[in-house]
Amino acid sequence: MPIRRLPPELINQIAAGEVVERPASVVKELLENSLDAGARRIDIEIEQGGIRLIRIRDDGAGIPRDELLAALSSHSTSKIAAIEDLQAIASLGFRGEALPSIASVSRLLLSSRTAAADSGWRIAGDGAERVREPEPVPHPLGTTVEVRDLFYNTPARRKFLRSERTEFSHLDDVVRRLAVSHFDVAFSLAHNGRPLLRLPVAGERMAQEQRIAELAGGEFIAQALHLDQQVAGLHLWGWIGLPTAARAQADRQYFFVNGRMVRDRLIAHAVRQAYADVLFHGRHPAFVLFLELDPKLVDVNAHPAKHEVRFREGRLVHDCLFRTLHEVLARTRAGRHDVAAE
Ligand code: ADP
Ligand code: MG
Repeated sequence: MPIRRLPPELINQIAAGEVVERPASVVKELLENSLDAGARRIDIEIEQGGIRLIRIRDDGAGIPRDELLAALSSHSTSKIAAIEDLQAIASLGFRGEALPSIASVSRLLLSSRTAAADSGWRIAGDGAERVREPEPVPHPLGTTVEVRDLFYNTPARRKFLRSERTEFSHLDDVVRRLAVSHFDVAFSLAHNGRPLLRLPVAGERMAQEQRIAELAGGEFIAQALHLDQQVAGLHLWGWIGLPTAARAQADRQYFFVNGRMVRDRLIAHAVRQAYADVLFHGRHPAFVLFLELDPKLVDVNAHPAKHEVRFREGRLVHDCLFRTLHEVLARTRAGRHDVAAE
């Protein structure tokens, strides 16, 4: 075959292979977009484990009519503009690939309204990025993305989907983790018409602990130590579980860097080391920790799913984490239970 340029719908479908693995990945991308848009409330409706329908509505900034088509076009983003911007990414998204990828493997409708517009506008994704006209629809301030029939046109991908129940539980996990990471946003989740989560904004520490109890289990937060530490431009805060609340599985570990959930070897190592003296072999500590630092000091462009980050000052982050946790745990062992390092 001669060398040819691939048609845009095929390019997007190939890109979708990286971004869209299952309904949970769609939900993650859409929720991140809503959070980037400054939403204060996000409502999530799911049917049949997300395979039949994912509908996410937010009250964020919205998308102007004239940018709706661009939002569905590949490599189109409002979040970065120049190469320097990659050095300090403050948003969750930045690649401009999620919406076109999702649109290429589903039936997608994007509706939105900005504060400046006097009506909402809607556009349908068709994978081909043909010029289409948005149509007016009633819509409150913010954005609704509706994704139906995921992988309807890529049977090979569809075959890899598991049962409705399994897909829903992956998706539910994504919602819970993101809801833990943004206390200042209200969330609701319904599956097949049944309301499952209804989380009001959690401003105070009590409310935050309540939200964690609902999302990550009450037994964890009941036995957790609160910490809040600022050193060398790093702000580390959150809750760590007492050694007695350690688990056989590492399933209650939440670590967020500038609001982004990450799994990171350096972080895992620092935590393990801090607990080394107090934990039985093979047990895993539970924690919900937030690290905030200058976006210039983290590279989030290290992995397509953005789960992994690279710290420019890895040693500093490692030591801050280790020392803070170690101290808090040591003070607890010395019998002082109120160890909020404030
Ligand atoms: P990225 O998030 O990497 O920029 P996406 O494909 O996810 O790329 O989204 C493309 C663009 O569409 C975003 O840059 C943003 O401008 C706009 N957008 C997407 N979702 C929303 C939303 N919920 N509210 C406001 N704008 C949105
Ligand atoms: Mg995005």
